[in-house]
This record gives sequence, C-alpha cells and structure tokens, in this order.
Amino acid sequence: MLKRRVVAKAELDNIIERLAEELNRDLVAKDPVFVGILKGAVYFFTALTQRLTHSVVVDFIQVSSYGSSTNSSGTVTLVKDLTVDIAGKDVYVVEDIVDTGITLVDVLALIAARHPRSMKVVALLSKPSRRQREVPVDFVGLEIPDVFVVGFGLDFAEQYRNLPEIWEFSEEGG
Ligand code: 5GP
Repeated sequence: MLKRRVVAKAELDNIIERLAEELNRDLVAKDPVFVGILKGAVYFFTALTQRLTHSVVVDFIQVSSYGSSTNSSGTVTLVKDLTVDIAGKDVYVVEDIVDTGITLVDVLALIAARHPRSMKVVALLSKPSRRQREVPVDFVGLEIPDVFVVGFGLDFAEQYRNLPEIWEFSEEGG
C-alpha cells in the first residue's frame, strides 16, 4: 500500500530543474549521449532531457536486477542493449534510484567496454545508507532514507510507475 508521499510534484520539478541547470553547465564542449536505464528512469529521463539547452543523443539500456520483490537479487542481466555507437562520446547514464549500487556498477562496466570518452551518472534518488558497491554518482537529485518508494517511473511488481509523485510503499496493509 502507499504509505506516505516522499516527493511531491512541485519538489520533483525543482529537483529536475536544478539538475538540468547543472548539466547544462557540464555539457559545454561535450559530445553527449544520454543513456536512460529502462524502465524506471523513463519519466525522469524525459523530464530532464527536455530541460537541457543543448542537443543530446538519447538511448536506452535495460537490465534486470530486481524481480517482483522489494529486495535485490544481486544479479544483473542485460535485457536490451544500446542502439547507438558511444565510442568517443560523453555518456551520461540516467538512473531512477541508486540503492546498493550493484546495477550501476554493472551498467557502467558495460558502457566502459564501448570506449566512451567520458562517463557520468545522473540519479534522481539515492539511498546512501544501502550502498554495497562504491559507485560515482555525479549528479544526485535527492538522498532518501532506507525506504522502498514507487511512482514517477519506480515500480512495485510493475505497478505504480505512472504515479506523478513519489510515495513510500509497504507490502503490509498496516
Ligand atoms: P541497486 O542495484 O542500486 O541496488 O538498485 C537499483 C535498482 O533497484 C533501481 O534502478 C530500481 O529499479 C531498484 N530499486 C532500488 N530501490 C528501489 C526503491 O526504493 N523502489 C523501487 N521501486 N525500486 C528500487
């Protein structure tokens, strides 16, 4: 059940606007490819990239690390690969939430193997207290405590992605 609203629409807008401003400064003299991690990052990705004042190439990658539960399985498999050549490009990996860091470490290794010129990470949310892998997150929207959240792309068993705000979710009814 939805327990508590964690990030309201207006706050989301402010966070994304601030990240876009930071990115617009960073994008000077870059040859950028924005890579969204499906499916969770889609809502954040489209909101963010529309606020950029530079033209960027967009692409998506899909990995699976979580099944239908709220706990990580700790294994990441490639479901959908990139379609553009990122060799020599400045890649910005856009992730919905960094939790243990396992997903990002694997995705960054995959991307690094294609020889980009540079690689940076943009995450809407981060749960630093849950980190198991050291992973560089260059642009962070909001740090949150160890709670399971849904909405604005984030799911529980594929549900709730389309909620416009971010909510704490609990499997228990109480
Ligand atoms: P990590 O590999 O860093 O543990 O987890 C990254 C992925 O786990 C995210 O892209 C997201 O799909 C999922 N995840 C981690 N925390 C949450 C959460 O609080 N809510 C939801 N819906 N997914 C999460």
